[in-house]
Order: sequence, then structure tokens, then C-alpha cells
Amino acid sequence: MPIQTTNPTNGMVLRSFEPLTQAAISGKLALAQLALREDRGVPLDYRALWMRKLAGILEHETEELATLLTTEMGKTIVSARQEILKCAACCRYYAENAERMLAPETIETGGNESYVRWEPMGVVLAVMPWNFPFWQVFRFLAPALMAGNVGLLKHASNVPQCALAIESLVRRAGFPRGTFQALLIESGQVEAVLGDARVAAVTVTGSEAAGRAIAAQAGWLVKKSVLELGGSDPFIVMPSANMEAAINAGVKARTMNNGQSCIAAKRFVIHEAVYEEFEMLFSAAMETLRVGDPMKEDTEVGPLATEQGLLDIEAQVAAAVKAGGRITTGGERMLGAGNFFEPTVIADLPRAAAVYRDEIFGPVAMLFRAKSLDEAIEIANDTPFGLGASVWTKDADERGRFVAELQCGGVFVNTPVVSDARLPFGGTKRSGYGRELSVAGMREFMNAKTVVIA
Ligand code: NDP
Repeated sequence: MPIQTTNPTNGMVLRSFEPLTQAAISGKLALAQLALREDRGVPLDYRALWMRKLAGILEHETEELATLLTTEMGKTIVSARQEILKCAACCRYYAENAERMLAPETIETGGNESYVRWEPMGVVLAVMPWNFPFWQVFRFLAPALMAGNVGLLKHASNVPQCALAIESLVRRAGFPRGTFQALLIESGQVEAVLGDARVAAVTVTGSEAAGRAIAAQAGWLVKKSVLELGGSDPFIVMPSANMEAAINAGVKARTMNNGQSCIAAKRFVIHEAVYEEFEMLFSAAMETLRVGDPMKEDTEVGPLATEQGLLDIEAQVAAAVKAGGRITTGGERMLGAGNFFEPTVIADLPRAAAVYRDEIFGPVAMLFRAKSLDEAIEIANDTPFGLGASVWTKDADERGRFVAELQCGGVFVNTPVVSDARLPFGGTKRSGYGRELSVAGMREFMNAKTVVIA
């Protein structure tokens, strides 16, 4: 992919960048190494101060930054503002809590003094996607920098200006030069960066293909990796659920970020006692969403981020129909400029269809009918992915079964799946491994050094 900003609302190429040369990359790696050495002497209080300043700049410049996000990848301006403010809150959370998270842990071993000391791993490479161009980066950046690590960002090629903006914000907040640098490089250049001895570890958020390629190399190099990959999250509705709340949340959970979120509800598993009602009301709600210019305040669904994304969705919907899926609303790309696809609902797709196993990264919901609680759990788990699950029920026994039996990184009862700086975030199965956020996320890129003093 060329490194360039293409406005997905009208297809206009706004800015292009040449990928960094090998010499330029090497210069940035040297600077990262220098920053790491200098960071050793920096008290935690200073980092907390800079992190709070970073939060303040994000809050102060929300409007300009949100406009940049919307221009580069098409999310609605309302959700772009929310994303910037969520990043600010994440920075504040780690500024407030890092001291507690990084404190040595004394462990009684009988006689000896023993404790765990948390140390940064060093220079961490972050390979990031375009869908939440700030949030995906900040949820790595805030804990990593508070822990004393140094970051290198290989952002997706369609959001280079977001990448440069983040580097500049970190610098303006006061962090020393080299603490966080954007590398404008192509995906083919990642291998050389990760192979450099100055890079200690890698975190990847993106597709399975990218995760597999990078993790294979990291494994070969014996470097730590964390993978946040795709998802095909179930959204389960049982007869006792508050139907109105479930439908409202389901529509938002499927169409947030124009349908391009790893934790979007993608497979709706509805108990047969309420299936007909759900299908009718959910389809009607999807049909009345306002699709259009993401810069407008009242737009609910904007364009897909890339033309390729639009072509992929078109092909997946066609495959679903061919396999026996029934479209209850939508199903077509929209006429005119931009990567717009109608909010779509597909019912009756046989689970044997190949497309059932795919992640659909756009505003397309698949509905499935479950005869019982057992079958709902069975369908929900029938996926190669395991990121999150949202379940809707007022029955305590059902809730207990879902919490215990769903194979995923998080179960959310009567509320959609969301990420939260205070809670671990990550997946099971082919959704990846490792965790981001919370104390668990912070410690992914730290050495738990055991100290025993006799
Ligand atoms: P990609 O995985 O292609 O891109 C994510 C990042 O990885 C980008 O920075 C990309 O660079 C880089 N990359 C891609 N392939 C390689 C490789 N072989 N070696 C090194 N770096 C690589 O995701 P897409 O943007 O194409 O999105 C497609 C799918 O990814 C979605 O359908 C979804 O499944 C998943 N996804 C998941 C997300 C999540 O939050 N878990 C977020 C976004 C996507 P470049 O842009 O230069 O290709």
C-alpha cells in the first residue's frame, strides 16, 4: 500500500509520503536507543507529568485531531472526538496508577527477602491498524512509556498523518526526543526493523495474516510479541432480555466505527422465542441509520476506510447470498463517490458456508437462530476467533453459563463489548494472545525480575 492520505468520503488523494530509507530507519533506531538510556535516570513523577500534559493537549486540540481522523479514515466526527478524549483519559489513568502498578512486589518465601522488580524491556515496535488510528496506538503508548519503554510506531499506510501527529504530541508533552517515533515504512520493511538487535519486542494489532507473519519472525528471534487480531464476536439475546435495549445496543455494536472494529458484534445469536421480533425490529433500525458524510454531526455511518475494504464487503455479502443467506435490509454498495456500503442484515446463512468463518469488517450483521441456551453457546463458540461476547439476559443461571462457557477474552452482560483502560483487553484462539490495558497490559513489555536476598 502506498503511504498516503486518501479521503474515503470522496476518494481524493490528499498527501503522499516516501517510505523511509534504511539509513533513516537506522538513525531513528539509534535515537530510540539513546532515549532508552537517558530514560533510565528519569523519575516516574516526570513521566507522569508528561503523560498528564499529553492528556491536556489531546483535550485542548480535540477538534483538529478529530478532523484529521475523519479525513484519513472516514469515522464520524462525533466518534473521532470520543476517540481523542478516550486517549486522554487513558493517559491520565496511567499517570495516576503507574506507581502502584510498578511497585516491587514482596513475596514471602520464608527467611529470605524476596521480591519482584518490574523493569522495562526496551525499544518496542508497535505495528498498528487504521481503524482507531489514535486509540489503538495510545492504549499501547500510555502504559509502555510510563513503564519506561521506548516506542516505535509502524502505522497503517493509509493514516500517515495520524502517525506523525502522535509523534509530535508526545514530543510536545515533554517526553525526550526519541521516546516515541513514527516510522513511515511499508509493511515489507517491518522485518528489518524487528530483526534489528536494538528492538526488544513487538505488538501487532491488525489482520491474522500480519500477526502470523510478524509473530513467526519474533518467535524465530526469541522476541516477545503481543497480538490483537480479528474477531467475529457473538451478540446473544435470550427471551428474558430487555429487547429495546438489546436492539439499540446491537445496532451500535455492529455499526460503530462504520462497522470496522475488531470487537464489533458480528454474529447475532437470537433465541428462537424472540427471533422473529428481533429480526424485524433490528432490520428496521439498521435501515433507518443515517449514512453519509462523516463530517456531518448527525451522520451515524460513514464510508469504509479503503476501497479494498468496500470490495471485500461486497464479495462477502455476495458469497453469503450465494450460500443461502437472506438479506433483510441493505446488501449493496451505495452509488456515487466514496466507499459507502448500506447497513446490511443477513439471516439464515448456513454455518457450513465459508463466509461464516470470516470476519466481516463493515456494517453487515449476520443473524442466527438458537433453540436453547446450549445451542446459543455452541453457535457463539463456533468461530476461529475469540475476542469478546455480549450476552443479553436477566436470568442469573444463564448468565453464569455464558460467563463460564464462552471461549473469548471478555464477556459483557447486558452491555456491548468495549475496551476500558482499567480492564485487560485481548483475545483467545486466532484473535491473538497477550493483553493490553490494565496492569496486565502494562506488564506485557516488562521483565519480572526476581530478587532473592539471603
Ligand atoms: P493489516 O493487518 O493488513 O494492517 C495492520 C497493520 O499491519 C498495518 O500497519 C499494516 O501495514 C501492517 N502489516 C500488514 N501486513 C504486514 C506484514 N506481512 N508484515 C508487517 N506488517 C504488516 O490490516 P488491514 O488494515 O488490511 O485490515 C484487514 C483486517 O485486519 C480486518 O478485516 C480485520 O480482520 C483486521 N483488523 C483488526 C483490527 C483489530 O483491532 N484487531 C484492526 C484493523 C484490522 P500497511 O498498512 O502498510 O499494509
